Amino acid sequence: MTASMTASLSASHRPFNFSAGPSAVPEEVLTQVAAEMLDWQGSGMSVMEMSHRGKEFGSIHEAALRNLRELLQIPPNFRILFMQGGGLGENAIVPMNLSRGGAVDVVVTGAWSRKSAGEARRYADVKIAADGANAAGRHESIPPAASWQIRPDASYVHLCSNETIDGLEFQHLPDLKALGSDAPLVVDCSSHILSRTVDWSKVGLAFAGAQKNVGPAGLTLVVVREDLLGHALPICPSAFNYQTVADNNSMFNTPPTFAIYVAGLVFEWIQRFQYAGKTGLAALEQRNIDKATLLYQTLDASSLFENRVAPEARSRMNIPFFLRDERLNDDFLAGARARGLLQLKGHKSVGGMRASIYNAMPLEGVQALVSYLKDFETQHG
Ligand SMILES: *Cc1c(COP(=O)(O)O)cnc(C)c1O
Repeated sequence: MTASMTASLSASHRPFNFSAGPSAVPEEVLTQVAAEMLDWQGSGMSVMEMSHRGKEFGSIHEAALRNLRELLQIPPNFRILFMQGGGLGENAIVPMNLSRGGAVDVVVTGAWSRKSAGEARRYADVKIAADGANAAGRHESIPPAASWQIRPDASYVHLCSNETIDGLEFQHLPDLKALGSDAPLVVDCSSHILSRTVDWSKVGLAFAGAQKNVGPAGLTLVVVREDLLGHALPICPSAFNYQTVADNNSMFNTPPTFAIYVAGLVFEWIQRFQYAGKTGLAALEQRNIDKATLLYQTLDASSLFENRVAPEARSRMNIPFFLRDERLNDDFLAGARARGLLQLKGHKSVGGMRASIYNAMPLEGVQALVSYLKDFETQHG
């Protein structure tokens, strides 16, 4: 890289990246990773060159576990596992560990929960407890929990708490006990983990690929209640057996060490994050609310752009929107790129645009997008 390229990418001049994933990482974290790349804290090694069993990586690993537990207030009867295989891997790993080959009920609220149901069918007797698709096949609202058909023998109930593609988010996790079910709730929270607090009293297991809100692809976070360990099907690979992974403190096989290190730096960034008089996760959640509110208000006030999701089901993280005149799509994207607003094209299955405004997206990024939306509408409205 030439000196001028380095200069043009320096902190204050980086474009705003709206990618749905892998997605933006806090700039402070990238800067620290760069500074420590050749020599991690006087060790003479890059983190990616260290033994996962050495004391240096051991301290990185333990700090990451401790800080994640503190940030999300994870109770002591839950284990944190650092795994590999991503969200799609967990779609198979969860039923192999929790279903005992029996009944699995899935609440379908969009593309990701539908995919989870399909994969679980290879290992268990899957039934769709509810499907929120409308007559056009689109997901624009979440079916009320009281309408879900949960079987008495369900080994677990699966939902996706933030549908990355459709742009729907549960604002509260359901209380399955109040619905008359003792089944544990399994939550795919890949695309909004650490954007808000979690009520663990309602959760049996939560999983998340790291590449949306936590750090590099390759790390999968699993938070599992201890009583759910130890029931894996015989076909479950040892490296994906939650009991085995837990017994070995996520070191049964080599964990994704560099991704764990970067995730650990992101956890520390959240811990010191300040906004609106708050600190830590509460501050980040407040900024996420403010960013999403600003963008939805702008879309709702526009006669050119629209978001079609019911207000109470709208995601704070992934905001799909459409131009009422789709012939303007290419112009819109080219103009956005010219202003340093990257990766706004919608998912191919939905079309239109999508702004993913994860934790690392500053308020200024959403303000820049909003002012572009307004300018574009003035020119083309
Ligand atoms: C991105 C995503 C996944 C898939 O993750 P991979 O790491 O690609 O397997 C699963 N679920 C949700 C909600 C996602 O956003």
